[in-house]
Amino acid sequence: MTERLKTNQQLFHHAYYDSLTNLPNRELFMDRLQHLINLNQRYGSHPFALLFVDLDRFKMVNDSLGHPVGDQLLIATAKRLQECLRPTDTVARFGGDEFAILLEQISDINSICTLAERINRELGAPYELGNYDLFNSASIGIVQSHSRYDLAEELIRDADIAMYQAKTNGKGCYAVFDAAMHTQVKGQLTLENDLRRVITDQQLTLHYQPIVSLHDQEIVGFEALARWQHPERGLIPPGMFIPIAEETGLVVPLDLWAIRKACQQLQRWQAQLPPDRRLGISVNLSSRHFSRPDLVEQIGKILKDTGVTTSGLKLEITESALIENPESAAQILSELKALGLRIYIDDFGTGYSSLSYLHKYDIDTLKVDRSFIQYLDRNADRLEIVRTIVVLAHTLKMDAIAEGIETTEQLAAVQSLGCEYGQGYYFSPPLTQAQVDTLMQDQTFTILGNLKEN
Ligand code: C2E
Ligand code: CA
Ligand code: CA
Repeated sequence: MTERLKTNQQLFHHAYYDSLTNLPNRELFMDRLQHLINLNQRYGSHPFALLFVDLDRFKMVNDSLGHPVGDQLLIATAKRLQECLRPTDTVARFGGDEFAILLEQISDINSICTLAERINRELGAPYELGNYDLFNSASIGIVQSHSRYDLAEELIRDADIAMYQAKTNGKGCYAVFDAAMHTQVKGQLTLENDLRRVITDQQLTLHYQPIVSLHDQEIVGFEALARWQHPERGLIPPGMFIPIAEETGLVVPLDLWAIRKACQQLQRWQAQLPPDRRLGISVNLSSRHFSRPDLVEQIGKILKDTGVTTSGLKLEITESALIENPESAAQILSELKALGLRIYIDDFGTGYSSLSYLHKYDIDTLKVDRSFIQYLDRNADRLEIVRTIVVLAHTLKMDAIAEGIETTEQLAAVQSLGCEYGQGYYFSPPLTQAQVDTLMQDQTFTILGNLKEN
């Protein structure tokens, strides 16, 4: 009898608990949630709140440091969450890097938010995992019990919407669900539908930000940056539509459109310059391309159609593109290099990359992320970080571009470190095609920081 009881208990545990963290799993959580909804509807005296917790950079940790480290991070997170809660509250591993929390007998939104802040603080503290000191953060969506909810799934849906809102607000935040969010999600859906049509339409444009040689302040090329001229909403910055485009896969045709457009433009400008004055154009390439087999062929075709010399086109990719798809990225990059293109690593220093990957790929240039340049004039540590990145680039026979130079002091600092190129508002904001046309006509290749964005 006891043997059977034990087996039954084990089966129950297996079915309703997560084997890694030992927390209740999704099934058990949904069961409890539905039970609470029912109680609340019948007696109306069981106010509760649902918190949906999603780790911000789990995939990056998993991909760059390996699954065993990812597992340890999940276990440590589960433990910290439990320590934040009362014994009557439930925390479950909902799946992947998602956790759900049920707070019972609570209706005061301030107390709920205080707890969410505490969780954010706890999960933001460093983790010591094996040989690694890791930092992470989580985004939290909050929903309160309400008579309009009949089904557990409806609460989960709204907590999820709030969690996404928290993520958009910045990592390590929380957000409380409200009706406006629902409308906003619907708005995003229309934005997504609009975007689908737009790529074949005429609403997308490119702006061009000069990249300048720090040696003589001459323009050596431009970075092409997408802008969406929406008929009702006006000019939408890429920060608002590139994430949607990435989620839906629309970023693939969008980027190819940008490459073609940028190449055509480069040809027009190049024709106005003396033959020995070569310009380059760089275009951002989303990591989504690295799971597609026909990228190289498509780019080859664009080069052929537009007549751009292969060394004139530079592709900017992020560290995460290399970490997420190491094998296919290596393959695709070597094919792109064989075509003659230049490869830049964008936002360098912000990913979780181990430096060992760098020399495995044939990379031409590191773009030092703006966050390191930002406080260069005030912060000696930043200077050392940038110095290290520039030395690293040079050791690996790469150039360095400093992004986001805004002040004379920042310019002087990166110049003193031997950084080859720079980009930023100090020289010029991204310009419209017409503004660059004027630059070309005036043959003003040296810019002095008085150009205004349209
Ligand atoms: P990014 O590739 O890091 O581009 C640089 C961003 O920094 C641009 O923002 C630029 O306007 C801004 N910036 C340049 N200099 C300064 C400065 O001195 N100070 C400050 N505060 N900002 C400066 P933008 O145009 O809003 O683009 C944002 C991001 O959207 C880009 O970041 C890039 O990741 C993405 N993006 C833009 N166009 C495309 C595209 O065609 N395809 C893809 N996949 N991504 C794109
Ligand atoms: Ca870029
Ligand atoms: Ca960048």
